[in-house]
Amino acid sequence: AKKSGRNAYCFYEKRMTSHATEALNIESDLRKALLNDELCVYFQPQYRLTDGLLVGAEALVRWQHPTQGMLPPAHFIAIAEQTSLITAIDHWVLTEVCRQLVEWRSRLGCGVLPRISVNISGRQLDQLNTAQEISRITHDNGCQPQMLCLELTESFLMEHDEESTNILKELSQQGFELAIDDFGTGYSSLRYLKQLPFNTLKLDRSFVKDVIDDEQDAAIVKSIIALGQHMNLVVLAEGIETQAQADFLIAQGCEFGQGYFYNRPLPADKFESLLRTIFDE
Ligand code: C2E
Ligand code: CA
Ligand code: CA
Ligand code: CA
Repeated sequence: AKKSGRNAYCFYEKRMTSHATEALNIESDLRKALLNDELCVYFQPQYRLTDGLLVGAEALVRWQHPTQGMLPPAHFIAIAEQTSLITAIDHWVLTEVCRQLVEWRSRLGCGVLPRISVNISGRQLDQLNTAQEISRITHDNGCQPQMLCLELTESFLMEHDEESTNILKELSQQGFELAIDDFGTGYSSLRYLKQLPFNTLKLDRSFVKDVIDDEQDAAIVKSIIALGQHMNLVVLAEGIETQAQADFLIAQGCEFGQGYFYNRPLPADKFESLLRTIFDE
């Protein structure tokens, strides 16, 4: 028993060490990635469900890793969130989105582009000057707040109180749209809905996934949509993969959505092609 206990301990220790080393490698690689322009942004279109009008897109970061290929955010966002790196990443993404918007505006020769949603991790709100920084990046790169939506998760709202309330109010006053992301997966969400200046409620994919087969998920989805409507919020469903899910959401009065059923996240040039087909009509 003693022997196996010791082995178990060694195994545990070894795993911990390699896990920590891995995180460290990712962290230092990620620092280099930011300097070497290895990150890129994909765009997932968002539609009005009833008639398929393109209304926006969500910007989603990717890492073109020199040896490991294209890495999704699941591989590095959590690690970045444990350090100040997440702020640098989110600022980089915002800058890149603004640069793209300006490029599309001139290349497509059109006045109004679909609004681009950018994910903002909670850590960033730790900083007192967050609102000024987001607004500065936006203006310095030739965009107006009205062209953007900031997606915030409930998890950070729990961790911050008065300070984040003030930051969100300031951003809202400046003209940024604010979306509460992954709605329904956190705690105390109703209180935040009441106190904070959100325009949009993003219905989490985990509820949409089984909405057709699971009565409980169906009940939750119906309730969240009704809640959003009663609070005068735009409701946008995430992760729509089938016609049946889209039909269910439309029947319940959910106005907007995104998901593989419509498009996967697209590289910038593919999203631009999509914009062209719309503007050429
Ligand atoms: P999220 O904000 O909930 O983003 C939606 C995720 O769902 C994206 O994953 C998207 O590719 C995926 N998705 C969209 N439609 C479907 C569908 O129909 N089926 C399925 N199975 N998945 C779908 P992705 O791109 O891997 O991003 C994962 C998460 O990483 C995001 O979840 C977000 O929390 C975070 N993230 C992505 N980009 C950024 C960023 O620039 N900054 C920060 N702070 N977080 C980011
Ligand atoms: Ca999001
Ligand atoms: Ca989400
Ligand atoms: Ca989600």
